Amino acid sequence: MLKNTQNGTISLLAVDGVFVAIGLIPNTEYLRGVLPLDEWGYIVTTELMETTVPGIFAAGDIRHNSVKQAIAAAGDGAVAALSAEKFVGSL
Ligand SMILES: Cc1cc2nc3c(=O)[nH]c(=O)nc-3n(C[C@H](O)[C@H](O)[C@H](O)COP(=O)(O)OP(=O)(O)OC[C@H]3O[C@@H](n4cnc5c(N)ncnc54)[C@H](O)[C@@H]3O)c2cc1C
Repeated sequence: MLKNTQNGTISLLAVDGVFVAIGLIPNTEYLRGVLPLDEWGYIVTTELMETTVPGIFAAGDIRHNSVKQAIAAAGDGAVAALSAEKFVGSL
């Protein structure tokens, strides 16, 4: 059962499966003024997942220009973890 959000009409559509699209707005509003965000709210990082704030790293879909795939997010996470380890070791 579908609801047209423009005019409220209800209709039925026969399908074999449903993929839910949850939107693409990153939950980064609380970081505004703390980290540099791009025009869509994604966090800008270096290739080492560093932000402009030493000790704060970002990885995965939340990053500017992320390809938004699980394997890329996992790779980002590995890089961020190594960068964080290096940062902590430098203190
Ligand atoms: C419907 C759908 C289908 C997909 N299909 C594929 C696919 O087939 N193959 C593929 O490779 N990728 C797919 N993806 C993309 C994949 O899911 C993402 O690339 C991956 O999950 C990104 O991982 P992430 O850790 O960066 O972010 P997420 O998995 O989104 O994890 C972020 C986590 O942070 C939490 N969070 C958010 N805000 C806060 C906060 N303020 N404090 C604490 N926690 C917070 C969230 O609740 C969430 O648990 C799909 C995504 C969707 C939505």
